[in-house]
Amino acid sequence: MFQKLALIGIGLIGSSIARAARVKSLARTIAISTRKAATLDEARALGLGDSYSLDPAEAVRGADLVILCTPIGAYGAVMEQIAGALEPGAILSDVGSVKQHVMKVVASWVPASVHFIPGHPIAGTEHSGPASGFPELFVGRWCVLTPDKDVDPIAVDRLTAFWGAMGSNVESMSAEHHDLVLAITSHVPHLVAYNIVGTVADLEADTQSEVIKFSASGFRDFTRIAASDPIMWRDVFLTNRDAVLEMLGRFLEDLAKLQRAVRVGDGPGLEALFTRTRAIRRSIINAGQETAAADFGRPHPGEKTEPAPVSDLVREHGGGDDA
Ligand code: NAP
Repeated sequence: MFQKLALIGIGLIGSSIARAARVKSLARTIAISTRKAATLDEARALGLGDSYSLDPAEAVRGADLVILCTPIGAYGAVMEQIAGALEPGAILSDVGSVKQHVMKVVASWVPASVHFIPGHPIAGTEHSGPASGFPELFVGRWCVLTPDKDVDPIAVDRLTAFWGAMGSNVESMSAEHHDLVLAITSHVPHLVAYNIVGTVADLEADTQSEVIKFSASGFRDFTRIAASDPIMWRDVFLTNRDAVLEMLGRFLEDLAKLQRAVRVGDGPGLEALFTRTRAIRRSIINAGQETAAADFGRPHPGEKTEPAPVSDLVREHGGGDDA
């Protein structure tokens, strides 16, 4: 158990950590800080913490675990404010969806006496803000940690236990590997969703209303992903540019092959690809990262699963050149 958990940013992820930490008694007290007074008031009304402050330095003072839960673009400004107030021996972590950039931005601010262990819970919904969180968000989901090699292993074990107690399966890997993996499993799919929904948004008004009226499940599912927080996703693409471009390049090559198969009427080729992709969907369900219900991996409270290692899923996703 931690003595004081400080959460900087209290949206979907921060408020879910607050709720899960409370339910599982993982911290004696929880301090909450965020940028806007209205958001802080909302967190207070929801009873998410024990103390509330607009000053992040005040929140982290005396905390033995500090987790940054703001959009990545805010990390530099937050670190500037809290660096001098961090407690010697404290663990500093985050939940950002990109890791190499975070390590670069945060590391220079971290005092030598503080254990910096970046993290990323691979869990979420398209909703934002303190009211959108729930304690089961991390149950059965992966949390990736990307500690530098010289970080105290006891601190890594403590943070691993913290996420494990909230229901996550925890895996450590390099920040570089994390960013490449997430580029194909999360970032490029979001880019595709933003693009396809953007294409519809640009259609003439009468065609657009027909698309919305007769919206089939494929398009509807894309609109859910494309409703994800604009600021968070702007920051993801600004900070994981190289890995996204690498994976997007492969995606576009494969799309060109698919375009050709459609143009030349290559039925066997299309069928072979669709059969392979169906198998990947099955392996994700078998790995406990989704249910057979078309609910896009929304959490299933009480359903503790043992998914395959993230790296296995990645091999399945990104493995073939001819997909
Ligand atoms: P969110 O619901 O929009 O919450 C963001 C929080 O950060 C809010 O409390 C917001 O408060 C605060 N904030 C925003 N700008 C700030 C600034 N400049 N300074 C201080 N506080 C600021 O976002 P979220 O979905 O929880 O995402 C937070 C982090 O989790 C991101 O880094 C994201 O990459 C990561 N993540 C998200 C998901 C997901 O599916 N959503 C999954 C995994 C990881 P104010 O209202 O006070 O501005």
